[in-house]
Amino acid sequence: MMFKAVPSVSSRPKGDLIVIPCFKGKKGAQAATLPADLKSEITPILESGDFSAKLGSTQLAYLSEKKEKRCILLGLGDELSCDPESIRRAYGALIKRCQDKKWKAINVPMPSVKGIQADVIATAMMEGIGLCLYLYEKWKSKDNQSTFHTDSIHIIGKCDSKMISKVEATLSGVNFARDLVNGNAMDITPQGLAREAKKLAAELKSVKVTVRNRAFLEKEKMGLFLAVAAGSDVDPALIEFSYRGNPRSKDLTMVVGKGVTFDTGGLNLKPTNFIEDMRSDMGGGAAVFGLIRAAALMKLKVNIVGLIPATENAIGSKSYKPGDVFRAYSGKSVEITNTDAEGRLILADALAYGQKTYSPSRVIDLATLTGAIVVALGEEYAGFYSNDEDLAKLCTKAGEVTGERVWRMPIHSDYKRYMKSDIADLKNASKVRAAGSITAAIFLQEFIESKMPWIHLDIAGTAFLDKPRDYHQTLATGMGVRLLIDLLSRLK
Ligand SMILES: [Zn+2]
Repeated sequence: MMFKAVPSVSSRPKGDLIVIPCFKGKKGAQAATLPADLKSEITPILESGDFSAKLGSTQLAYLSEKKEKRCILLGLGDELSCDPESIRRAYGALIKRCQDKKWKAINVPMPSVKGIQADVIATAMMEGIGLCLYLYEKWKSKDNQSTFHTDSIHIIGKCDSKMISKVEATLSGVNFARDLVNGNAMDITPQGLAREAKKLAAELKSVKVTVRNRAFLEKEKMGLFLAVAAGSDVDPALIEFSYRGNPRSKDLTMVVGKGVTFDTGGLNLKPTNFIEDMRSDMGGGAAVFGLIRAAALMKLKVNIVGLIPATENAIGSKSYKPGDVFRAYSGKSVEITNTDAEGRLILADALAYGQKTYSPSRVIDLATLTGAIVVALGEEYAGFYSNDEDLAKLCTKAGEVTGERVWRMPIHSDYKRYMKSDIADLKNASKVRAAGSITAAIFLQEFIESKMPWIHLDIAGTAFLDKPRDYHQTLATGMGVRLLIDLLSRLK
């Protein structure tokens, strides 16, 4: 384990450094916790007023004859505005400083923060550290790699091994999702994802997986999924995960993630500056992988079915063509007005098939679905849509707690007019740009059974960043893994 719990400062081991978390005070920084043996050395530094304790700021100081040679003052900002996300970001900043200097044995006393419980503080600290430690360096030669690896971070205070193993399970799920998104589209193909799914099920006994091939999709008449897959040399796969953490209960959450392993846009080809990041178009599917991994590692007491319709949206003479009509698994016909609106097509078939096959208690889908949600909310919030007030509240709450923030968008039936077709039951993309993320959700809702509690998360802005920031040192964030672990933990 990367983290170890130490009950008190007096019992801490020797280390490269100790971290002193600080709040902004009226006259400079104030320690949010201060070990007694360091009081005489740290107090004058704080009183000098040189350190502001701005959120994420750090100041190095050397100590004489202590368990650590040095300490870092770490700014947590104002105590009144301190929340779990600011704790995550501050401890992320700490890790970047440690990586620079290659300090590996780190003693981290927990701060006390007014209004936040100790377990929430410990979780946020470890998440900030663990998320920031993730790097993707398999393509870098040795000289260019960070040689920083640590398995020696001591959390000092009200933290125990149970909390640590829960956070480490979550981190393992998030980093798995990040690896899949960061990986080459030539490796993480639909068949590459299928291999990863089988490896996961072989590693974790509580995870079962079935991979459905093209013949199965044909037999089940998944006409929309097959249309999108038509242009690719690589066979599509429908990956079906099952994790039963609470076998005595009939409650079952179905989570469906878009797995377009590379999106060229199809014959409505994407232009330069819009195509370069398209290996990330399986970010929703990657989040389902991460969720299943994390839930199984922490033995979360819930039942989950995870579905990933995986395909390339490739360009070639066999590609599906704008203007053609295809019949969905559900029986509805869809006119293709834009081949780049492919995510909703594969989700439509997976959603309809999943509801019929598994009769879940609720359905959640995640997809890097529209550029419109990036215009609306940027990288700061994912958009979500729901037909169920209780589920929507849980989702918002989970977003606040995890820092994977979500904003509820409207899904009024008035928007249906945008998706009407002259020759089919529906069209897959509106002719006008207005309300682009909403009309995508309206399309998906056509494939949700009546009275089925449902959430659709449009994570196009949040799954893959423009630039590294905060505790994300690579562009893939693993968006959705922490959010859904938290949401599922809150289900009654
Ligand atoms: Zn597309």
